[in-house]
Amino acid sequence: MQVQIDPVDYEIVANRKTVKQDLSKIHKTDPRPQTGDLDIFPYVNRSLIDYNRYHHYIGHAGVKYSMAIQATRGCPYKCFYCDIYKTSENHNRRSVEHFFNEVRQLADIGVKRFEFIDDIFNVNKKSCREFFELVIKHKLDAQFFFPTGLKGDLLDEELIDIMVEGGSLGLNLSLEHAAPRMQEIMRKRLNVDKLHDVLTYITKKHPHVNLTLNAMHGFPTETEEEAMMTLNFIQSIKWID
Ligand code: SF4
Repeated sequence: MQVQIDPVDYEIVANRKTVKQDLSKIHKTDPRPQTGDLDIFPYVNRSLIDYNRYHHYIGHAGVKYSMAIQATRGCPYKCFYCDIYKTSENHNRRSVEHFFNEVRQLADIGVKRFEFIDDIFNVNKKSCREFFELVIKHKLDAQFFFPTGLKGDLLDEELIDIMVEGGSLGLNLSLEHAAPRMQEIMRKRLNVDKLHDVLTYITKKHPHVNLTLNAMHGFPTETEEEAMMTLNFIQSIKWID
């Protein structure tokens, strides 16, 4: 049960109303408006993090010595199973210059591996391409990983080539389900054939890329026949040349 908070239970911290800690009650506060302009935020002060405590472990990107970066917040899609569109109503991006300059500063001090934690970095194709064009232009000696997932049907051969030339080494794409009915139920509405073309292209043209695919099995109402469609889709990709 949620309890509306009595105004006297607020205290002001950093000019914001903040709930006083009281573990005996559950407090409900108003939703905080989403920040549209992400360029207002300063770069993360990485010196406050003791990376030596983390570097020797394999991280989300599947590699050691990677540093997380974030260029966007939110996602314009509304997949049924996902929490992102509920917690971040709009998709907002940092400008390419703002984001690139942070990456460049980190690369200049020796960071080689960047792990994008964006929910769907390539949803704005132009911004994605411009970022990697800057990486190429400025000859950043870095590797990029996308463990949280890219939208495969928004990729094309030209963009993939630019991303790989710019140092992308880990591409994680989302299928979730190959059956059209399940795509509708999930509200994903992915162009499954286009994703298949993209996967095939990456395996043929860039076999050194660590390519991974997200898929769901056992989603409510899924039939055995539909489950097989997803398995057959996965099998139809020649994963290792
Ligand atoms: S595209 Fe990805 S991040 Fe966006 S709503 Fe769907 S699952 Fe969530």
